[in-house]
Amino acid sequence: MAHQDGPHRAKKSLGQNFLTDPNICRKIVDALAPGSEDYIIEIGPGQGALTEHLAEVGARRLQVVEMDDDLAARLEDRWPELEVVRADALKFPWTALNDTGPCKIIGNLPYNVGSKLIWDIVSQVETLERAVFMVQHEVALRLTAEPGNKAFGGLTAWVKNFCDTKYLFKVPPTVFRPRPKVDSAVVRFDPLPLDGRPDEQDRLAELIKLLFQQRRKQISTILKKRMTPQVEQWFRDEGVSPSARPETLTPAQFRTLSLIY
Ligand code: SAM
Repeated sequence: MAHQDGPHRAKKSLGQNFLTDPNICRKIVDALAPGSEDYIIEIGPGQGALTEHLAEVGARRLQVVEMDDDLAARLEDRWPELEVVRADALKFPWTALNDTGPCKIIGNLPYNVGSKLIWDIVSQVETLERAVFMVQHEVALRLTAEPGNKAFGGLTAWVKNFCDTKYLFKVPPTVFRPRPKVDSAVVRFDPLPLDGRPDEQDRLAELIKLLFQQRRKQISTILKKRMTPQVEQWFRDEGVSPSARPETLTPAQFRTLSLIY
């Protein structure tokens, strides 16, 4: 499909801040450890800053998901062999990847949808080998926080039930056009073994949402009506005070508590 002539005008509504520094792009792509046998999916390829380095790898399959039709058309013109999916990544059927074998996912994510996308991808793609995402710096801190840290939130509790996360490096606004207002950072996600994943995802999500809606309160206050003898025993067994705040629980404790509360 033809694209508009002339330079692309960045759309703020789609979080379009394009990377301009090839060294940083290379570093982000290297973090995925891409190989020629891989099936790689890039979310939000934009003008191809990361795609260019991914294409050099000669992966078995390289698919990009871009919502902006104009940018998608430009990518198709530039790389006729590239699989360009014109879609909203928030509506992408992530679970379908479970039928197509191992995959790696990468993206400099649009900031307004980054957290939601990561929530969905880590929990729905059981065949994920690794993911690397650039997000707002503050979100990167949340994704990688340890229990007890003030950055530890519902997103942390959820994601760390599915993946080990590693904060890789900070990226300043100066390497983007247009420049965002805040710093960004790159995070790596390495999935936990499949038998270590939560079986009852809905219950885990429900507990996490309940606890972090009122994160300043004590857990026993939030769960007041649910403090059954079994839940009280859980606190004793875990050595957790019922007056603790939600962000002090470990990811595994959210999971075991979600099964009985
Ligand atoms: N990867 C490019 C780079 O690093 O220069 C562009 C990154 S830019 C921060 C985010 C990209 O995601 C844009 O190309 C934008 O059009 C696209 N995008 C925004 N929302 C999207 C969505 N919901 N689904 C798919 N792509 C989206």
